[in-house]
Amino acid sequence: NFAERSEEQVSGATVIAQALKTQDVEYIFGIVGIPVTEIAIAAQQLGIKYIGMRNEQAACYAASAIGYLTGRPGVCLVVSGPGLIHALGGMANANMNCWPLLVIGGSPERNQETMGAFQEFPQAVRSSIYGRPGACYVDIPADFVNLQVNVNSIKYVECCMSPPISMAETSAVCTAASVIRSAKQPLLIIGKGAAYAHAEDSIQKLVEQYKLPFLPTPMGKGVVPDNHPYCVGAARSRALQFADVIVLFGARLNWILHFGLPPRYQPDVKFIQVDICAEELGNNVKPAVTLLGDINAVTKQELASKKSLPMNYYTVFYHVQEQLPRDCFVVSEGANTMDIGRTVLQNYLPRHRLDAGTFGTMGVGLGFAIAAAMVAKDRSPGQRIICVEGDSAFGFSGMEVETICRYNLPIILLVVNNNGIYQGFDSDTWKEMLKFQDAASVVPPMCLLPNSHYEQVMTAFGGKGYFVQTPEELQRSLRQSLADTTKPSLINIMIEPQATRKTQDFHWLTRSNM
Ligand code: ADP
Repeated sequence: NFAERSEEQVSGATVIAQALKTQDVEYIFGIVGIPVTEIAIAAQQLGIKYIGMRNEQAACYAASAIGYLTGRPGVCLVVSGPGLIHALGGMANANMNCWPLLVIGGSPERNQETMGAFQEFPQAVRSSIYGRPGACYVDIPADFVNLQVNVNSIKYVECCMSPPISMAETSAVCTAASVIRSAKQPLLIIGKGAAYAHAEDSIQKLVEQYKLPFLPTPMGKGVVPDNHPYCVGAARSRALQFADVIVLFGARLNWILHFGLPPRYQPDVKFIQVDICAEELGNNVKPAVTLLGDINAVTKQELASKKSLPMNYYTVFYHVQEQLPRDCFVVSEGANTMDIGRTVLQNYLPRHRLDAGTFGTMGVGLGFAIAAAMVAKDRSPGQRIICVEGDSAFGFSGMEVETICRYNLPIILLVVNNNGIYQGFDSDTWKEMLKFQDAASVVPPMCLLPNSHYEQVMTAFGGKGYFVQTPEELQRSLRQSLADTTKPSLINIMIEPQATRKTQDFHWLTRSNM
């Protein structure tokens, strides 16, 4: 009955064991002695497995490996003094490996004050698994172990949640994707951080989608199977030495990886570092890109960004919209360019959007933009005109760029270029098509010359021209164009000409080549 229960007493040892159980601790390794024996017994009674070892150091190694394998800290239980000192080796090892671990040591009795120390378990568990995982020590005075307390006076703090998942900055993800894409000899290094992060499925997808040769570190082995065709473990030195871009997934540039320095590496190799620990980024080398976040989440971000390269309409308009001044004029024409642009690009003022209109006329854009610029100049100086053109639409009145430059109008022309009317071909397909036949017989009517440098129409008259292929190039050129009020500019934005794109092949290190 309630009155009896409310007087029920439990020992401090049981409270400690229950607190551990509440934190999802499954295993304790240790060597018992005064005052921690009762803790081990109480833990067993609550269903926690206790493994008695012969030296605290080995017990601590075992407990830390539980942390690596399960993601929740294993516990190492030791007596004070020599017990704790023996455990130090294991704690240092866990810390260096970035593996979560809880070491609980019993210290001599002290004046009984509060039970507050038990509240330290959630904090200890959290510190061991959040951020960079590592070792934590909780000291339990002997008098806590044998103290009898009323059950009703105990409140266990609920189980510490798994660490929140952090993701890398979007622009860094895009930059990393373009650095990888432009690599001639890329290499992915998979470390034990990737194993701990359970990133196996996403990393394998990344390896296959980007066709990336990979090299596992000793404990990174098996994240992607060693017998995978892109595994270059057998050519380790060569792979490190000749790579021009190296992506580090949860591996530090320490002695195991020869500090990332020549002669084991190219002096100008570009490192892309993925790690959950900010302090690790930039250690020993100056990375080209740093991605601070959980490996599994960052890998998924990279996979998602891969789909948008080459860019499509949505990617382009998304990045344009981010920077558009609220009061700008938006002039637009083209087929998809105008239709999709209308849904993504926002207008906040009346009479600030001009497009192909009722008659669906192509070729009106530059004239409209010039008119808007004249009005803006007279009525609200400083206002910008953003003219978003399909490559086909731009062709109808492209020579008006000379007019724009002659009057130095504050117009930014964006040519969304897919090499055609509705769609076109990439330059490889184009060359292939013209190998044996005359263009007029084989070129599909909707195709325009691939990779036309429309931005040179602008530079021809003294304005600024940009040829962009990636979101970050687009962001940068638009930022510069908006900042420069002295000249008009044209940004020629290359997007996917067709739905599918030929993938690159990296033969330089795959098994068939060794
Ligand atoms: P290896 O010995 O396999 O080269 P290291 O121990 O040097 O691996 O590197 C592991 C790295 O993984 C550490 O820098 C650590 O901060 C990082 N790490 C651990 N867990 C995660 C995670 N979930 N996401 C990202 N990085 C992580």
